[in-house]
Formats: sequence, structure tokens, C-alpha cells
Amino acid sequence: MGRKFFVGGNWKCNGTVEEVKKIVTVLNEAEVPSEDIVEVVVSPPFVFLPLVKSLLRSDFQVAAQNCWIRKGGAFTGEISAEMLVNLGIPWVILGHSERRSLLAESNEFVGDKVAYALSQGLKVIACVGETLEQRESGSTMAVVAAQTKAIAEKVSSWDNIVLAYEPVWAIGTGKVATPAQAQEVHCELRKWLHDNAGDEVAASTRIIYGGSVNGANCKELATQLDVDGFLVGGASLKPEFIDIIKSAT
Ligand code: PEP
Repeated sequence: MGRKFFVGGNWKCNGTVEEVKKIVTVLNEAEVPSEDIVEVVVSPPFVFLPLVKSLLRSDFQVAAQNCWIRKGGAFTGEISAEMLVNLGIPWVILGHSERRSLLAESNEFVGDKVAYALSQGLKVIACVGETLEQRESGSTMAVVAAQTKAIAEKVSSWDNIVLAYEPVWAIGTGKVATPAQAQEVHCELRKWLHDNAGDEVAASTRIIYGGSVNGANCKELATQLDVDGFLVGGASLKPEFIDIIKSAT
């Protein structure tokens, strides 16, 4: 199947110029598996993107944490996909649960954003995931399927999408999904892709896990058949991010 392991670091709304430079130095000095084995993408806040891109080693890439739903213009405070492309930023994270919940981004809104970003040539880390309440009421798969469907309906190709399963109850809480819980949802998502987007898409699309991944729990999660990597929040700001990258092997 040949899905290359993918490790994303979501720095969220954190950092100063000095702190960002320190993180980049740690990344640049790290010995990690080669680009053939693992794809590493770090996602600083917008304002630090050019700085990080200019300092970061060439085998790692950068991602924005969001972009506007359509062509730029009179949308105060927004950053367009065109601007990211203009700056040479290859990736964008869309549909993160913090934006879905705090900024009321709906499934349809996220689907439209993914489609527009792809149309401009960006690659997308598209996030889906259920709340604790939804998990406890047994609707995990229905929720993530609806989120994935809203994306699938708007895109003509999955080639440039990495799907991130991020259970909301695991994000920033220290409560990581067990390897079995992660594998179960990833396997179901792959089946969903198989049934709705085809064999080839299901076999080739990377489904990565996010939610309290750290240097200690990444190894076992990484051994799961359908876990193709991680989207890491808190730990991506720390040296243990290197251990998470190394879990690719
Ligand atoms: C995230 O924000 O995407 C995330 C997974 O955060 P954390 O690793 O801190 O749970």
C-alpha cells in the first residue's frame, strides 16, 4: 500500500520569535528517519510561517493552521489560500476541533474550505473527531463519517488530503485514545473511504491520529495497522516531538 508515515506538529496559538527559533533549532539538529520513511510538517501560527519556512531544514515542511474559504478580498482578519501559495506554504490544517467548536465551523464550511484550498494547490490535513458525549452515546462513527462525507462531497481527489482523526476528548487533555480505540476508528474510516471514494483512495489515504500523543505513547499507537502517523499539539513544542517522528520506524 505504501502509505508514508506522516507526523504533523500543530503549534496552535503559541510562541514568540525567540521560542520559535529555539524549536526550529531542536528540529534542525535532530537525527530522524529519512524523508522516504516519514513526512514531517510543522504548523506555526501565521505570523511565524515565513520565519519558520526560512530557517527550517529542507526535509521538513510547513503548514498553516487555517485559511479562508474562498478567494481573498474584503474578509478582515482572514488569510487566503492564495496568500499561502504565494509564500510557498505547501500545507494547511483545516477543520481542527478548536475551530469547529470555538468558531462554529460546520461540516459544510470545512468541506468547502478543503475544496477551495485544494483547488489553489495546497495540501490539506483535514481533521475529524467526536466529543466525549458523542462517544459515550455510541455515535462516534456517525459523527466522523458525517464530517468526512462533507469533505468527500466537495472534492474530486483525495491525493492531497491527509485525514486526521482527533477525538475531541483526547485533545490537550492528556487522555490519549488507546491503540485499540484509535485503530477501530481508523479502520472504520478506511472502510468508509472504500465504500464512498473507492478502493484506491482507501488504500492510499493517510489517516493519522491526534490527541495527547507524546514521546511515551507514540510507539504503540504507531504499530496499529491503520494509524499512518500523528497530528501532535502540545508535544510538538517540546523535544519529545523528535521521539514521535522516530516512531515511524
Ligand atoms: C491538536 O491540537 O491537534 C492536538 C492533537 O493537540 P494535543 O496533542 O495537545 O492533544
